[in-house]
Amino acid sequence: MEFIDPALLAYCEDHTSGEDALLKKITRETQAKVLMPRMLSGHLQGKMLELFTKMIQPQTILEIGTYTGYSGVCLARGLKKGGKLITLDINDELETMVRGFFEESGLSDQIDYRLGNALKIIPTLSGPFDLVFIDADKVNNATYFDLIIDKVRPGGIILADNVLWSGKVLVAEGQKVDKDSKAILDFNAKIQNDPRVENVLLPIRDGIMMARKI
Ligand code: SAH
Ligand code: CA
Repeated sequence: MEFIDPALLAYCEDHTSGEDALLKKITRETQAKVLMPRMLSGHLQGKMLELFTKMIQPQTILEIGTYTGYSGVCLARGLKKGGKLITLDINDELETMVRGFFEESGLSDQIDYRLGNALKIIPTLSGPFDLVFIDADKVNNATYFDLIIDKVRPGGIILADNVLWSGKVLVAEGQKVDKDSKAILDFNAKIQNDPRVENVLLPIRDGIMMARKI
């Protein structure tokens, strides 16, 4: 489901700073060689992540769900000098490709790319995080939030992607809800009711929940 008129989306992209050669290459190679290329953040969301990060100027970012590194490169570009991005992914088949992209970004010394199950890795990380981007297996969104919330500094930002789930968060009466949709509905409700954060659900691309730790 497209949330905005494709012509308007094209207009938005035409008025969003363009992707550089590396981001274009990541997109191209993801489309050519990797399953589910739609998962990649892409031009509009990538630039938004980059500009958010440049506003926050984080010392430490945690990304859950690297995939082919598109969002990781965008996030790393906004790090404070000497800052660090820790990015986690369970899919080791993409490792060589992703490490290559991070090398090409010129930021690989600031990117700590770890392979493994984020559910196992996050408890070993100490924080504090200035920014967390949750973009992995949606059934674990709420668990990731619980694992990181005490490691986010007050005033820190948590972003969670795909919270509109192609529009499936709108459930008609009597309609059956699949597992992923249920997880996203529960996650959005949990954030909305958690007094530790103030939040806004941004209807950008597939929906981004932005929560600021109070
Ligand atoms: N953030 C990327 C897209 C991530 S796609 C971008 O915007 O470009 C989701 C990723 O989450 C996939 O690469 C998948 O391998 C990873 N993932 C799924 N379950 C995971 C888990 N339990 N631990 C770590 N990564 C996981
Ligand atoms: Ca995503």
